[in-house]
This record gives sequence, C-alpha cells and structure tokens, in this order.
Amino acid sequence: MIPDLYGAGDVRIESVPDARLIESTDALVRVTRACICGSDLWPYNQMEHSETGQRMGHEFIGVVEALGSDVRTVKIGDVVVAPFAWSDGTCVFCQEGLHTSCLHGGWWARDGIDGGQGEAVRVPQADGTLVVLPVGGPDDALMPSLLTLSDVMGTGHHAALAAKVGPGKTVAVVGDGAVGLCGVIAARRLGAEQIIILGRRPDRIALAQEFGATDVVSERGEEAVERVRELTNGFGAHSVLECVGYEESTVTALGIARPGGAVGRVGLPQQASIPTTLTTFFDNVTIAGGPAPARAYIEQLLPDVLDGTIEPGRVFDRIVPLDEVPDGYRAMNEREAIKVMVKL
Ligand SMILES: [Zn+2]
Repeated sequence: MIPDLYGAGDVRIESVPDARLIESTDALVRVTRACICGSDLWPYNQMEHSETGQRMGHEFIGVVEALGSDVRTVKIGDVVVAPFAWSDGTCVFCQEGLHTSCLHGGWWARDGIDGGQGEAVRVPQADGTLVVLPVGGPDDALMPSLLTLSDVMGTGHHAALAAKVGPGKTVAVVGDGAVGLCGVIAARRLGAEQIIILGRRPDRIALAQEFGATDVVSERGEEAVERVRELTNGFGAHSVLECVGYEESTVTALGIARPGGAVGRVGLPQQASIPTTLTTFFDNVTIAGGPAPARAYIEQLLPDVLDGTIEPGRVFDRIVPLDEVPDGYRAMNEREAIKVMVKL
C-alpha cells in the first residue's frame, strides 16, 4: 500500500505491485518509518488533477529485505536510513560531497522510482545511498532523530554551512518549520553566539528556543528586517538561513544579511529570480545553497544523534499509520502539525 497524490488535496491510499529488485545494485527495503516533508506540500497544494497519481515521500528508514548481487555495504536485516536523493557514492560529485548532483543518482518518487511513503522501496545504488544505523532494531528510541537525517536535519545543516555559520557568529533563521528548527540546532552545533529565529507560531518558537535560539522576531517584511537590525547593532546577521522559499521570505533573508555576510538558501524557491540583487551586490553578500547533499552529512551528524547531543526528532509532533497519511498531509498543510511521522 502507498499514498498516491492525484491532485491538490487529493491523497489516496492504494494497492500497487510489490517493490522488487531490478538492477544488481539495488536493495529492497521494508519501510518502518517515513515522513511528510514541507516540500511535499507544494504539490499537495498545487498539483493539477492526474489520472495516474504521483508517488510521494523521500525520507525513510527501514530494514533491508533483499539485495542485488553487486551490493556490498549492507546486509539483509540491517536497519538503514536513506537520504532524500539516491546516489552512487563514487562519481566525481559524490567524491566532492555533492551527492545531489550524482551522475548516476536521482530522486525518490520520480521517473518510476518508488516513493519513501509506502510499505517497501526499491533502493537504486544501494551501496552509495544507504547508511546502516548502529541501533538495536527498527523501534529504537532514537528513530525520530535518526529519521531527520534523511532530510530536515541535513538540510538545516546545509543551510548553516552555506551561510558560513561558525563560532561567535550572529545567525538569523528565516522560517520556523522543521527545516528552520533544524537550522537552529545546526547553528548552535557549529558554535553560533546569537541565533535569531524569525517565526510566529508559539509552539515552534518554544522549540526553537529549546534548540538554542537566543532571540525571536515575529514581525514580517520590513518590520522584521528592522527588528533584526536592532538586535545586531544595526548591521544584520553574519549568517542567514533561508528555510522557506517564498519571495517574501527570501527578500527578508537578503535584507537582514550583514555586509560581507552569507545567506544559505534551502527553501525550494517559489520565484523565478533572486530579488534585491543590488543591495546584496553592494554589501558583498554571499548567496549560496540548494538541495542539501544529505547523504554526505549523515555520517557527520550521526554521532551527535546517537549520543543525544542533538535531538532533531523533537520536530515530529504527530505520528500516523500509513492509512492515515492523507490526514497527515492535511494536518501539516493546516499547520496543525510541525512534521508528521509515518509509522509502519
Ligand atoms: Zn555519484
């Protein structure tokens, strides 16, 4: 069974042929945990009606059930996490740590590849894609935090790296969704001194503060820019994490970067061009970012998850079984839930 998206607001649970091995480099993974991503809400709100349906999901943990003859790094029975893009781990871009540009990789739920929301997934390039988790089993208490390594924690970390967060820096995080909250965790982990969260929902702000945010800006637009400047001696932040993707949030992010600062963009851009180029040009602001090479970060972040130094799994505030995934989409879309975990 899988959830299929047939159009805006129309998620249906359907029976599909079982996932199976095709290539010798494939693994078959029985999914035990998956989740709904903020980026899944873009098609959930905008997709034209389709007769065939679109598979969904790109974040999952599961147990290896079968292996192609060329797979070497995982064994049957291993508990594994998959990043939100699959990759061979060997090409020139993977070697540079940019697995999202893998020459032999791709995306879940596209081009005939299974989605992460479903009972089982054929994992292409299993040796490069999957990371074995050193846990007791698929119900380990660390599962929520481990699951964030497939996307949101890696994405928050990527935003922080792109924004050049480091010890003593002033950081502003635009967006209080799961990625923004993980951005706060990442900023603190990298030694930021001041972390300003821009958001307005009380439960999310409270969590951001527990994760290390030192200041809260709930204003929007020009007022938000003014408020951040007040908090930063009039200069703006060294490092700005743009974790939304809307034009308004991007304008705000660019507007609160200090001269010589950097903006790390990880929110999927919903506009064709980068706004306010003239100000950022004269301020020598670095604009960087893109889809996080989550695969590269899993091993970097895993020790901190395993020893409890970071607890990104706290972003999950609702758990649903597979047949309630449609309501999970609704709850996230209506901002009733920060992030929904699917427990199989
Ligand atoms: Zn590659």
